[in-house]
Amino acid sequence: MGKDVADLSMAEVWAYARCPYEHFWRYAAGIAPPPTARGLVEQVVCQALRSYYGGGGSTERLDRARRGLAEVGGNVVQCVGQAWRETLGRWGYTNDTWDVLVKFAAARARVMEPFLSGRAVKRDGSRYKVPEMSNEYKRRAMDAGLPHLAARLNERLAGAPVSVAEEYGIPEAFSDSVEIAGRNTWPGVDAVAGVGVPFAVHLTDGLTLGGAADLVTLSGRQAGVEVHDWGAVCPPTAIVRRDLRVVAALHAAAEGWDEVERVVFRHMRTGATVSVQRLPGTGRLLAAAVAAAAGIRCRVYVPRLAAQSRDCLVCEFYGLCTDGQDVLDTLDPTLLAEIGGRAEKE
Ligand code: SF4
Repeated sequence: MGKDVADLSMAEVWAYARCPYEHFWRYAAGIAPPPTARGLVEQVVCQALRSYYGGGGSTERLDRARRGLAEVGGNVVQCVGQAWRETLGRWGYTNDTWDVLVKFAAARARVMEPFLSGRAVKRDGSRYKVPEMSNEYKRRAMDAGLPHLAARLNERLAGAPVSVAEEYGIPEAFSDSVEIAGRNTWPGVDAVAGVGVPFAVHLTDGLTLGGAADLVTLSGRQAGVEVHDWGAVCPPTAIVRRDLRVVAALHAAAEGWDEVERVVFRHMRTGATVSVQRLPGTGRLLAAAVAAAAGIRCRVYVPRLAAQSRDCLVCEFYGLCTDGQDVLDTLDPTLLAEIGGRAEKE
């Protein structure tokens, strides 16, 4: 399993930096994450953005998408609705299910609104970072009949081919994707050059990482590159500026532009954005890429579960890492001996 920095993509560096085991499942074992209700949110919103803006930066595709959009007079929320209709149709569900999902999403948005507008706050006056986790939200949701509605929907959707968590099923995924589409201020269609646009980051002589920009706007030959973050809480600006994806995006090169004028870090769940225009070089990205390559080559796989198991709860591989036993209990300790042997030889 010889892995060199030159073989890595930005997605692999990011996966390894987040959790070496996430990298292991996805790239070494070649296992796609089992579909989950939480994963559906990102999947549906990305599908909607591709149909709204066109994907990959291909002019022909973009024109086609825009023509189609102009015909239906759509927006991102409508594209999310369309993506859900297609998904439900593939699963064999009809308009009745759609109607109950819409009713659930509307009721949930009404419960969430006071938290977002700052009318429902903690005793000390501060806002809830993740309102859904609070007892206050749960009380209001109960008063609004959300658990009952969710239970009805979950029963109806029991045959859908996705795994659901106790407190997060398809109704919640549906609501979240609609809210994300509605809460964000999206750039105008004409300014956008594409979604999922391939780019390269030159780290040192002969060393280049490939990546894909979540969304690109163009002003002449200057690009604005968006990084879409799906975490529960929007990180502070100082952290955003150190984010490896932001560093990569700010130094991204592609045929369609001369330079990246700014990176917009978009926290999808809240719609908050942070604009980053100037950063030092790519040093921290190079350091991460070199460390990831060495870790992968020597099979250094310490699961995040070892120290931050709460963060694992929202990971798409959680089921695999905790299948019967915690993955730490099944790690092969003899790998350590192999790593020691390699270190001595090198
Ligand atoms: S569940 Fe935790 S340890 Fe397993 S891949 Fe996900 S983040 Fe890593």
